[in-house]
Amino acid sequence: MLIYMIPGGCRPLFYLLAMVLTLVSPHTLNHHEHQDHSEKERPKLLLVSFDGFRWDYIYRVPTPNFRSIMDEGVKVEFVENIYITKTYPNHYSMVTGLYAEMHGIVANEMYDPALNLSFSMETDSVYDSRWWEQAVPLWVTVQKDGGRSGAAMWPGSDVLIHGMFPTQYLQYNASVSFETRVQQIIEWFSAPKGEAVDFGILYWEEPDESGHNLGPQSPLMDAIIAGIDEKLGFLMNELKKSGLYEKVNLIVTSDHGMAQLSPEKIIELDQYLDRDLYTWVDKSPVVGILPKEGKFDEVYGLLADANPNLVVYRKDDIPEHFHYQHNVRIMPILLEAKEGWTIMQNRTGLFMLGNHGYNNTLRDMQPIFVARGPAFRQNYVKTSMRSVDLYPLMCHILAIRPLPNNGSLLNVQDLLSLEPTTSTPISTHFTVPPKIHRYSYAPVVGSFIGVVMVLGFLVVYVILVTLKQRPALKHRSWEMSQPLLQEDLHL
Ligand SMILES: [Zn+2]
Repeated sequence: MLIYMIPGGCRPLFYLLAMVLTLVSPHTLNHHEHQDHSEKERPKLLLVSFDGFRWDYIYRVPTPNFRSIMDEGVKVEFVENIYITKTYPNHYSMVTGLYAEMHGIVANEMYDPALNLSFSMETDSVYDSRWWEQAVPLWVTVQKDGGRSGAAMWPGSDVLIHGMFPTQYLQYNASVSFETRVQQIIEWFSAPKGEAVDFGILYWEEPDESGHNLGPQSPLMDAIIAGIDEKLGFLMNELKKSGLYEKVNLIVTSDHGMAQLSPEKIIELDQYLDRDLYTWVDKSPVVGILPKEGKFDEVYGLLADANPNLVVYRKDDIPEHFHYQHNVRIMPILLEAKEGWTIMQNRTGLFMLGNHGYNNTLRDMQPIFVARGPAFRQNYVKTSMRSVDLYPLMCHILAIRPLPNNGSLLNVQDLLSLEPTTSTPISTHFTVPPKIHRYSYAPVVGSFIGVVMVLGFLVVYVILVTLKQRPALKHRSWEMSQPLLQEDLHL
């Protein structure tokens, strides 16, 4: 109604003013409110790894809790993890988005000739920061961005890396129960504003341990798998009880699968070469061989065609697709057993009925992946992804700018819900999905077009006024401004 109270000659100016206000204020102010709000309310993400949970375990026994996450969220059928398919390399890839040759945790047991140090996941060498600092784990990046993280036993999360521990973390202790770890994580997520963690990581040793001891084909594994599903149910229940279930994005995955071994399938290195010729680094089924000074050709010659179930690589010849070559911690010769085979020096060593570490393209080496929460689509099954894509996906959910990595958000963005949600407000700053992208730049585009049009109108107005054609101006400007105004409001 206000428009009819304005003298006819001033109406063009009124429309210009209204247009400027319409274009600039709502979007711009909302955008600012958005940012202020987002700094207080960061999106929440909990990453859970059940060590050695093979992709197909959920089809073996009833797993109602995994099923429920799949129905409420997403599942990926084929997850190509990283070579070698061992625990430490894969857990560090999940939180860095890097292949082992890039992040430097190339095995569970390592030798670094530059540092002249040895690493074993079973010794205090784990706590030497130098092993971890070829990469920056996500919890460090979250904290540098002003967020908080909480880690329950995740490999490397109790190590000082680039000067930081997670904001909250538990010192690794295998005897701490899953339930205690969950309760601790819930407590960290439920802390008062300003103290609550935004990114949680939770690790559990099973079903890996049982898979090694029993072998994945053992019928006894059924109860172990059902037990993991119950543990997942416990976690979901605790999240519900504390009011976090609808707020927290939950990703449940694993580092690798498990292959069945047989005492009939053993490769004994002592049959082929003398122990004095080399140092043995890491364990079966992928073994790094460091030949003694001047013995490379001899060692390689003795092993190259020694056993049809043993693949022998010179470091330079390791296939590119393994991304396992360019690091001093990768030994000059790499031995890889074919699936189901065990490499030993002789049969007196420890033999396990199940193992992993083999070629990462083998189906038995691949892990489970399910997720749910406000950032995810519902009841959606994706065919395949790489585990390095998890890092950019998590950065997107947490609205953190990812560090350079080997993954790609484009490969996994179809897992995300299409609309920006209230619980992921600041993700709009760095998003790739086209819909969200368009949303985040709309105020800028709108304001730019608005300013151009305003200037255009002013020029036309001044010219027309100068030419003393006021009646024509009134008529024309009304016709011109209205459709343009509407067009802008639709941006
Ligand atoms: Zn294992």
